[in-house]
Amino acid sequence: MAEAKTVHSAMVTYASMMSLLTLCPPFVILLWYTMVHADGSISQTWQYLSEHGLQSYINLWPRPSLVACKIIFIYGAFEAALQLLLPGKRVEGPISPTGNRPVYKANGMQAYFVTLITYLGLWWGTLHHPHLILVLGMELYPRIGKNFDIKVFTNCRFGMMSWAVLALTYCIKQHELNGKVSDSMLVNTILMVAYVTKFFWWEAGYWNTMDIAHDRAGFYICWGCLVWVPSIYTSPGMYLVNHPVHLGVQLSVYILVAGLLCIFINYDCDRQRQEFRRTNGKCLVWGKAPSKIVATYTTTSGETKTSLLLTSGWWGLSRHFHYVPEILSAFFWTLPALFNHFLPYFYVIFLTILLVDRAIRDDDRCRSKYGKYWKLYCGKVPYRIVPGIY
Ligand code: NDP
Repeated sequence: MAEAKTVHSAMVTYASMMSLLTLCPPFVILLWYTMVHADGSISQTWQYLSEHGLQSYINLWPRPSLVACKIIFIYGAFEAALQLLLPGKRVEGPISPTGNRPVYKANGMQAYFVTLITYLGLWWGTLHHPHLILVLGMELYPRIGKNFDIKVFTNCRFGMMSWAVLALTYCIKQHELNGKVSDSMLVNTILMVAYVTKFFWWEAGYWNTMDIAHDRAGFYICWGCLVWVPSIYTSPGMYLVNHPVHLGVQLSVYILVAGLLCIFINYDCDRQRQEFRRTNGKCLVWGKAPSKIVATYTTTSGETKTSLLLTSGWWGLSRHFHYVPEILSAFFWTLPALFNHFLPYFYVIFLTILLVDRAIRDDDRCRSKYGKYWKLYCGKVPYRIVPGIY
């Protein structure tokens, strides 16, 4: 368990260092303090800060330690080695606006299982590990050499992988503190791990999404995946470590089933769009031939290309329906904390704001890419996210 403590500590050190390096507001540390030492109560943290002054705030910052730096370096190097060395299918990404088609090696699921088995094996072997929240161009497809894709490393193998590792770490930590794992923690961990497993199962599909195909490897993406994901996305689990809630079997099962269903629907939305594009519209959508718009657009080099826009299935309900189950999944893995404090719900609220903004940005980008075809799509599918409402 000492290992779980050290891993958590190293993650705290990592996020704080990254916050300092990037001169970002040290919000992560306040969140960590409130979750771990102030029962998730913002007013308790505010009282502590007003009583003890600025020095107390400075004292909150976990100091970087050599052990934390070593853990982060070894974790990063381990993930980089798995990305380079594990076998995987050759997968082609979407064509960029300049006409380039990136090629990837799809070995995320293998890397995911090797990581979790290695981590649990290390924990089991030594039976027993908070310094990680402090340590951490603008290319569309930045690479080292031909094979080491930096965005796959930062977004998937470091960011998303650390989500699963930390979810397990919080579970182990609660077991270390209480000699057992509460049903609330179990529901939270199963749902977060199921979500990350789904992510790696579909990783090659992720290489076709906005993060990879449109957003450049600048501050927004890199800091978000290297710092924000490990520290904020996992925060409901961090809260539950010191605040085990007894839900009972019935409520646990209801929350678990609802969460798993949302994770599945989110997966199925992404799968449906990608299957439709992969087969050039020659697939069944909800058992029927898909309805579609054949849209043409011009690349920056002046070439005219064609894209298909699906207007049935999930993509006929609203233009970004997949964000609804994404937000609900996060709600269901936070719900085990019940409603004693607002802070465990920070991620759900943040995610809602992020996805509403993302839907607006994506609509704007698609409107300028597809012009009249996008207008046609908006006419057929008028709602942006929530059918009938928005
Ligand atoms: P996607 O990239 O999957 O989808 C948007 C793109 O799909 C558009 O840019 C357009 O690209 C294409 N498209 C739009 N409408 C249609 C249509 N009707 N038919 C076919 N193609 C269409 O979106 P995201 O990257 O936002 O989401 C991917 C996944 O990641 C989702 O599951 C989402 O919930 C999740 N996510 C999670 C976040 C988190 O922080 N937890 C943050 C963001 C996303 P093109 O130019 O190719 O036409």
